[in-house]
Amino acid sequence: MISVELINTGSELLLGRTLNTHGQWLARRLSDSGYTITRQVSVPDTGESIESAVRESLARADLVVTTGGLGPTSDDLTRDKVAGMLGRKLVEDPGTLRRIEQFFEDRKRLMPASTRVQAWVPTGAEILLNDFGTAPGLAFELCPNPFCAGKSRSILAMLPGPPRELRPMFDKSLLPWLRARMPLDTEWACRNLRTVGIGESFVEELIAGPLQGLIERGLEIGYCAHVGQVDVRLSSQGRGSEHIVGEAVLIVRELLGARIFGEGDDSLESAVLQALREAGLKLAISESCTGGLVANRITNSGGASDVFIAGVVSYSNESKASLLRVPIELIEAHGAVSQEVAASMAEGVRSCLNADYGLGLTGIAGPGGGTSEKPVGTVFIAVSSGTGTRAIKRFNPYDRVTFKEVTSTQALDLLRREILGVGRDDKTP
Ligand code: AMP
Ligand code: MG
Repeated sequence: MISVELINTGSELLLGRTLNTHGQWLARRLSDSGYTITRQVSVPDTGESIESAVRESLARADLVVTTGGLGPTSDDLTRDKVAGMLGRKLVEDPGTLRRIEQFFEDRKRLMPASTRVQAWVPTGAEILLNDFGTAPGLAFELCPNPFCAGKSRSILAMLPGPPRELRPMFDKSLLPWLRARMPLDTEWACRNLRTVGIGESFVEELIAGPLQGLIERGLEIGYCAHVGQVDVRLSSQGRGSEHIVGEAVLIVRELLGARIFGEGDDSLESAVLQALREAGLKLAISESCTGGLVANRITNSGGASDVFIAGVVSYSNESKASLLRVPIELIEAHGAVSQEVAASMAEGVRSCLNADYGLGLTGIAGPGGGTSEKPVGTVFIAVSSGTGTRAIKRFNPYDRVTFKEVTSTQALDLLRREILGVGRDDKTP
């Protein structure tokens, strides 16, 4: 087992001003790669706290990863503190300085003098290139580890604070370097299958029994529920792991079928885009209660412009009539939140924008506006295509933000199933 401790530096984390997403993101990445997180700690930006945390962690763990404090401001102390503790001199690295200068040149911005400090690198450090910012990451192989008499070797890696810099740096530079310098001591396999439209207990009910034989051979199953989605993590350690996990994936894919939309970090929206792209079809969206969230999610994926024409947020009845050609009489007869209006929105946006698929959403997000017949949380989602229009009713009685999230997931899933031609299996919730 290779033990890992994470040290997240930043006073903002302890003041509750910034959510510590690195703790979660790095723990997931490292544990999915077979490294075992044994401890995580957040410390304020004081030299003393950083130094004692690093010292303590190095006394226990094989690998210590710090985040934050590599920037140019006075509260960025990690680099200097660690160099001091390890007795390393800081030396200006010409290659790093050139990259920092280039960063500002590319953006046509003046380089502040203080930025230059980020080119000062402790001697003997591996430099992890930063493609999205100025501070490089740093990693040290400590042979022997001066803070743990029993360890002939440990690794200390330092990553920058901003997530958009840390994440690509970890994937592109640190993880490959780590795999080469500190490979796992046993075979390891891990796959993460992503499902939608089924609750976690039902997922377990469907797969746990058939996987029993593999569990006895060392398979571990993890269920992770997100809003409207459940991830199934299949992992195994030791001899034959690859084979055990491979077999488990086949069984789960067979049992859950089209409820699986992707693997690893795939998103539901990227699965929808891929299905549209493969079919050579275009999409237009009309949203009321989700306020544009479906269009927002669709456009989070690169290449959305290949298949996405437009999204209309039509909140008022008048805008549904004028922008989407929903007949006012239809709204008056059935109400703005109705199967008929959702269908008409989907058909309207499809024909107005000359799309292959039109999506329409209308619902009651609350807290007001509910009736006994249509309580808060009621939502209708429709998809219109060349083969007709299909509408579904759902009940999502949550706070507004969760309501939008769940509803957008249901809409994307309905769309995905229509495009792939796999109808919803209504037997499972
Ligand atoms: P730093 O490099 O420590 O100055 O961090 C720069 C910025 O990165 C901070 O202002 C935060 O917005 C963000 N950041 C730092 N640490 C974390 C963390 N653990 N989780 C999420 N964001 C972080
Ligand atoms: Mg900081």
